[in-house]
Amino acid sequence: SEQELQGELTDGFHLVIDALKLNGINTIYGVPGIPITDLGRMMQAAGIRVLSFRHEQNAGYAASIAGFLTKKPGICLTVSAPGFLNGLTALAHATTNCFPMILISGSSEREIVDLQQGDYEEMDQLAIAKPLCKAAFRVLHAADIGIGLARAIRAAVSGRPGGVYLDLPAKLFGQVMDAAAGAKSLVKVIDAAPAQIPAPSAVKRALDVLKSAKRPLIILGKGAAYAQADDDIRKFVEKSGVPFLQMSMAKGLLPDTHAQSAGAARSTVLKDADVVMLIGARLNWLLSHGKGKTWGDAPKKFIQIDIEPKEMDSNVEIVAPVVGDIGSCVSAFLEAMGGNWSPAPADWLSTVAKKRDENVAKMAPKLMSNASPMDYHGALGALRTIVKERPDAIFVNEGANTLDLARGVIDMYKPRKRLDVGTWGVMGIGMGYSIAAAIETGKPVLAVEGDSAFGFSGMEVETICRYKLPICIVIFNNDGIYRGTDVNSANSDPATTVFVKGSRYDKMMEAFGGVGVNATSPDELKRAVNEAMDSGKPTLINAVIDPAAGSESGRIGNLNPQSALKKK
Ligand code: ADP
Ligand code: MG
Repeated sequence: SEQELQGELTDGFHLVIDALKLNGINTIYGVPGIPITDLGRMMQAAGIRVLSFRHEQNAGYAASIAGFLTKKPGICLTVSAPGFLNGLTALAHATTNCFPMILISGSSEREIVDLQQGDYEEMDQLAIAKPLCKAAFRVLHAADIGIGLARAIRAAVSGRPGGVYLDLPAKLFGQVMDAAAGAKSLVKVIDAAPAQIPAPSAVKRALDVLKSAKRPLIILGKGAAYAQADDDIRKFVEKSGVPFLQMSMAKGLLPDTHAQSAGAARSTVLKDADVVMLIGARLNWLLSHGKGKTWGDAPKKFIQIDIEPKEMDSNVEIVAPVVGDIGSCVSAFLEAMGGNWSPAPADWLSTVAKKRDENVAKMAPKLMSNASPMDYHGALGALRTIVKERPDAIFVNEGANTLDLARGVIDMYKPRKRLDVGTWGVMGIGMGYSIAAAIETGKPVLAVEGDSAFGFSGMEVETICRYKLPICIVIFNNDGIYRGTDVNSANSDPATTVFVKGSRYDKMMEAFGGVGVNATSPDELKRAVNEAMDSGKPTLINAVIDPAAGSESGRIGNLNPQSALKKK
């Protein structure tokens, strides 16, 4: 109590810890070092879970996905300059993906940094972070730690979520102040992400457009998954009778096997739809900016539900913008639709279902292949069954072909179970995401990784073994990037896109006491994954894929620039 604290002292270290705990933040992802080594130790002693990584970028990715999964800011803790910069990639990634995250970084002495006198790890971190995140703050006085953290939390989770930078100079931690005054200075953030209720007129306008449609389509994005309004979203989609597409990380919001799912008829519905309702999905490159060949010639009307007003008309005209949080918007729709809403035209739904079922049937035989060496479909066919049998497991996915093919083949059944490369299509999220997913959800994790993608965060297998996390990593090892067959004819160096042939990534796992398996057929793969998921032991399965099986850049080869000069 304040009475007992009379005359006692506290310091910056303890105020940071107390402020975090007061706001229910009990997990930190980071890498120790000057000036935050003791802070990490003290956090652990104070009952905060501190996950210590091998590289800050992976800790940062972990924090970012913790934010996505929990709607609380994921915290990454780094040392100054180089550690800060390593974490910054993940902070920018969180902002781009609309995940709430706070990068807390120690920094060097202001007086020396500002005069550029060459301090240990000197860098003006606040200035550098600012353009790459949603907000950035620095705390210079122990008495401001409470306010500083409160501002950071609000900035991260309110409105469109994103990354926030919090700069804590080394000297702050040692600053001493009266303990009672310190306790009083802390702020417990009330209603950090206030509901944003849509205007009734906007709701009516959107429903009127939807009602007028002959061939409507709903697109659910990861903002809808983030919102955790799962039941109402499902009710709304079912009541509307509209076919739906789920963006990569929205998969499982409704089961991919749902009668209204248009997942396997994507190109048909994008071309033929006359009204498209976007729920927490941006019309960025992942949706071909809402125009061009992908969207066909049929005129379209777009309805968009988003918390960020500036998102409207970003690429094409939005005839019915609905600004608000998705939970509030969808429940307002349900209410306004009332008891006698007539669902979307049945002939459209059956056209979509027919196309979808044809495409699914076309793919089915490829998924049954037990050929060795494996191709992507044979390996994914085995994994698809495992995910179906274990719908609670978290599925992490990165790579090129490994990503694009898995997205189409592996059906998801529950919300927020598929975590992947996101808006940037970045490589390197794999181990950070897997670790945070295991920590935050307590569920087993299956990470399916291209051999190249895995390389960006591979050292974290030690972290996985150290914390004994129930993570099964499957590496689709085709000896290289896109394919393992490229040859450099100019000199004796290997081609730029190939790795050591026949690498055994499974042995990396064994080096740290985890389970390593080399799998050469879908049957072997299936057995090994099931065993790992049952045992919960950290496992890495080197799945040997035919080096010739991939295609350049997976499904996005069209993004490679082409020269007007003829190729030699
Ligand atoms: P995807 O890549 O799955 O299409 P995007 O990241 O492009 O998804 O879009 C997510 C959108 O969701 C962003 O525009 C973001 O502003 C919005 N969003 C995030 N959280 C919420 C929320 N709680 N309510 C409403 N919109 C949200
Ligand atoms: Mg590869």
